[in-house]
Amino acid sequence: MWLAHIAAGLSIGSYTHCLEGFLLANAFHHLPSVDQLIVDTGLVKKEFHDAEMHTPFFALGVAAVTALFSWKYALLALICIGTHLLMDLPTDTGLMLLYPFSRRRFTLKLVKNTNGWGLRGFYRQKWAIILETPIWLFFLYRLIVTLVFGLYARFI
Ligand SMILES: [Zn+2]
Repeated sequence: MWLAHIAAGLSIGSYTHCLEGFLLANAFHHLPSVDQLIVDTGLVKKEFHDAEMHTPFFALGVAAVTALFSWKYALLALICIGTHLLMDLPTDTGLMLLYPFSRRRFTLKLVKNTNGWGLRGFYRQKWAIILETPIWLFFLYRLIVTLVFGLYARFI
């Protein structure tokens, strides 16, 4: 899952009905991908991508810190990061779902990870298209609903 992360973040954010929630939903959803930015700085090895920041443990940690400020946004963090992890599960890299108890990786092995930010070859895989199309269609649905109800609310 690659570009569909954008659609997923925007779709989840559309349910928050406020700019703060919308921005936080997108930030939380994309937060695990920050590991690639850290890899790109050269400070850590390539293996840091899809590792500790792509675990339920990380999601719980972010939610715990967020809960200090808002339980509502802590739940949003869990949903958004959880969705990110779910969307990455089909890649052959696998995720350490039991971290910190185990570093064993779990994967559905439906798509080959094309590494980093590179899109080359990713969308030549049939499963990439099969898995991402419904997410983009759902985003389109949420966009239409948000626009229609947003305009409707302005005129009543
Ligand atoms: Zn990811």
